[in-house]
Amino acid sequence: MLDGKAIAAQIKNEMKQQAGDLAQGGVRPGLAVVLVGNNPASEAYVRGKVRDCEEVGIYSELIRLPEEISEEELLAEVERLNGNPAIHGLLVQLPLPDHISSDRVIAAIRPEKDVDSFHPLNVGRLATGLPSLLPCTPHGIIEMLKRTGISLAGKHAVVVGRSNIVGKPVSLLLQKENATVTMCHSRTRDLASHTRQADILIAAVGRLHLIKAEHVKPGAIVIDVGMNRNEEGKLTGDVDFESVCPLTSYITPVPGGVGPMTRAMLLVNTCKAAQATRG
Ligand code: NAP
Repeated sequence: MLDGKAIAAQIKNEMKQQAGDLAQGGVRPGLAVVLVGNNPASEAYVRGKVRDCEEVGIYSELIRLPEEISEEELLAEVERLNGNPAIHGLLVQLPLPDHISSDRVIAAIRPEKDVDSFHPLNVGRLATGLPSLLPCTPHGIIEMLKRTGISLAGKHAVVVGRSNIVGKPVSLLLQKENATVTMCHSRTRDLASHTRQADILIAAVGRLHLIKAEHVKPGAIVIDVGMNRNEEGKLTGDVDFESVCPLTSYITPVPGGVGPMTRAMLLVNTCKAAQATRG
């Protein structure tokens, strides 16, 4: 089992130490989380992010804005936080209401404060191999593999899903680690013929139990990013854990795998952004 929860707890401890050291040096790391409206899932996510900050001694602000706020007003709030020296990391929780362009809002965040790493400049830096803040979920996956002692060089990684927040960036990070990467998506023909070749299979789709035993090579490492609700409302991944688990050398559970790592990497990015202000 790849125990994301335990590895994330270890990282949180490290960030507690780092945040303490930075505060002693006069820079207490600060994160601002902007929530527009009251989508229940988003509410739960932002509460978790603020609680994580409290646990490690990072200053945090939760800015709640009404659903009806205009794009201009939201952009003005982002601008205010861009200029606030106590805030080193800034994220606007997605999704935003339909009348607001998330692309415009993301582009308005100062790249140095963009702890989600969704800003086109940070995406471009990652794609071209320049140093940047790294997106939390993909970075969390790589960190979990590395801390488990799994080497990626030369391995064949197959990523199912090509979204901007998971599939595409994780493929870039895997290539940076010298893995050979195959990308699959909804138009891929005969998905199992690709996934069965994977030494490392990453499922980031959002389809309950899409990945079954027939998709997995014996001995493979399987990372399940998916977060779906089953008929009983229980959080469940993209991988049919029961049938796939016996085939694997390592597998992440849902919950307790990629999710906690994503949260931990937000703390890492906030400390990194604070550290960068010290030059
Ligand atoms: P997304 O933007 O909806 O992208 C889904 C991807 O899956 C798309 O590229 C899509 O292909 C592909 N796809 C859909 N059906 C497929 C099929 N039958 N076979 C192969 N590929 C298929 O989703 P996302 O934002 O990447 O999130 C994916 C999942 O991860 C969701 O369950 C989400 O909740 C979860 N997630 C978890 C975390 C975490 O921290 N644990 C973080 C982020 C996301 P096309 O491009 O062709 O449409």
